[in-house]
Amino acid sequence: MKQRSKPKKGLARLLELAGAKKQKLIAACLLSVLSSAARIVPFFTIYNVILELLRHYTDLDQINSMRIFICTAITFAAVLLYGICAFSSSALAHTAAYDIIYELRLKLVEKLSRIPSGYFTHTTQGAIKKILSDDAEQLEVFLAHHICDIATAITMPVFTLLYLFFMDWRLALVTLAPIVISFCLLSACLNKPDKAALQVELANAQETMQGTIVEYIHGMPVVKVFNRTLSAFQRYERDLSNFVHVVSKTAHANAKPMGAYYAFFGAQLLFLIPASLLLIPTAKSYLDFLPVVLLFFLVGSGLKEPMEDMMVKVLDSNRVIEGMNRIDGILMQDEISETGTGNPTGYDVTFEQVSFSYSEGTQAVRNVSFRLPADSVTGLVGPSGGGKSTLAQLILRFYEPQQGRICIGGVDIRNISLARLTQLVSYVFQDSFLFHDTVENNIRMGNTTASQEQVEQAAKNAGIHDTIMALPKGYATVIGEQDAYLSGGEKQRLAIARVFLRDTPIIILDEATAYADAENEAKIQQAFARLSRGKTVLMIAHRLKTVERADQLLVMDTGELVGAGTHERLLKDCGPYAGLVAANERRDRWTIKRSGKGGDAE
Ligand code: ADP
Repeated sequence: MKQRSKPKKGLARLLELAGAKKQKLIAACLLSVLSSAARIVPFFTIYNVILELLRHYTDLDQINSMRIFICTAITFAAVLLYGICAFSSSALAHTAAYDIIYELRLKLVEKLSRIPSGYFTHTTQGAIKKILSDDAEQLEVFLAHHICDIATAITMPVFTLLYLFFMDWRLALVTLAPIVISFCLLSACLNKPDKAALQVELANAQETMQGTIVEYIHGMPVVKVFNRTLSAFQRYERDLSNFVHVVSKTAHANAKPMGAYYAFFGAQLLFLIPASLLLIPTAKSYLDFLPVVLLFFLVGSGLKEPMEDMMVKVLDSNRVIEGMNRIDGILMQDEISETGTGNPTGYDVTFEQVSFSYSEGTQAVRNVSFRLPADSVTGLVGPSGGGKSTLAQLILRFYEPQQGRICIGGVDIRNISLARLTQLVSYVFQDSFLFHDTVENNIRMGNTTASQEQVEQAAKNAGIHDTIMALPKGYATVIGEQDAYLSGGEKQRLAIARVFLRDTPIIILDEATAYADAENEAKIQQAFARLSRGKTVLMIAHRLKTVERADQLLVMDTGELVGAGTHERLLKDCGPYAGLVAANERRDRWTIKRSGKGGDAE
């Protein structure tokens, strides 16, 4: 496994993920800051115009019209600059965000294909979907909008305050006072231990409620079949009302501090009016002081909005960072080594003292050694949970064995790249997954460059051609649309067609446990037989009849290989196999008796 270096955190990590688009994002933020600077220029020019008008209000002819014209021109230029910068910033941020998220999603999907399949056994599809869709989406919105908004929301109040301090530091301090008081009140409230505990309770209640909703929706068929609607709904209702209760408790607890915070935060005028009155006697000239006071009334009270905006955006960014951590949870997974250059020319498969466990303690496969000769069929049998599927999946490097080695043509599969390995081995799963796509494209998954004739030939070999031709649009039918559904057996034959098209020298077949009907079963067995010609085949058999005539049989029981040989030899020498055969016969007799005696079980 390849080890990854420790990732960066927060904004630094975000910029790292942005890669080459980082410059675009930085440029977008700078343009956004410039646009916010341009936005406060009109306050300055209006102040100068008022100053000029007041200075000469007794003799209007004395007004310096050139000064007024320059102020007007600067105002227009500033508005124009604001428009250009805001537009360019938004355009740059949006294109950078789309590019970053496009590449990130590709990276995630590529990564998912390179990490051991064990990851998927303890991570739900829902969780992966949330990361690829919701978390990535959230990141896109943050990069396209919020990152520039935050830059603006921080710089706008800073520019404004600097300007106000430049005009009159005393009034600037008075403008700043309610903001500082409200922040102190808020942080004193949020830092109390009981408030922190309440936030945790709120997050837990929300998580529980969301979990119940997802479970309720996923389990809907079971809920209906067992008529458990009411009890399942009661739990949903209980979690929902618990969430409402915690929200209301939090709202009550926060009412006073938040009220005080909001009361002070927007209260600049409350402080500015008395302060201005007190400062009038200290002013050199009433006419000079009045425009300054007016400016503070105008600009000071306008500080509230961008600062509030900044707080909301900064709090929001925490959620984005949490999402980014989840994305990193995938990106930082150990990968299956891809450096292998081994290129086997023989196609026999050997297991040499292989042991594997999913988790510490219990071994799913214990010290197993055997050989699958090229051009032979091996049946893998044993009781459920014996380790058959695990053994087969180890050949495809779904997991890495903790001990021993697996070789193809004498080459350790750890030295074979995954790309090469998939050219060597195909796996027909019991429950084959079909994409929401045309039948043809589903078969083409096996070989995207195959011609139409090759696709049809593969379908014929798999015994599914006639079924496809009976579909509304034949090979162009989208599975799941226009009432075009396939039965379990038909799906498996479609999956076999994929493998025919792929034409790998080694094939692993997982026999489906329940075919819909005898006809389907016969067709699948014929397809399996055709597919197996000249190949190294390992067939996981759940019914012994299907592999009785295999070249050799391997018997797995509780992770150990307890027998290997032909059917006849094993019947004589291998107790567990003889036991399996007897159990199979009893099951078959039980089925016959039930149908024969109208319901009597043996
Ligand atoms: P078989 O195919 O013979 O029914 P498996 O290979 O599926 O047996 O299972 C072998 C053992 O490994 C069983 O004890 C099973 O519970 C365990 N096992 C199978 N898959 C997983 C998994 N993804 N995570 C943890 N344990 C597993």
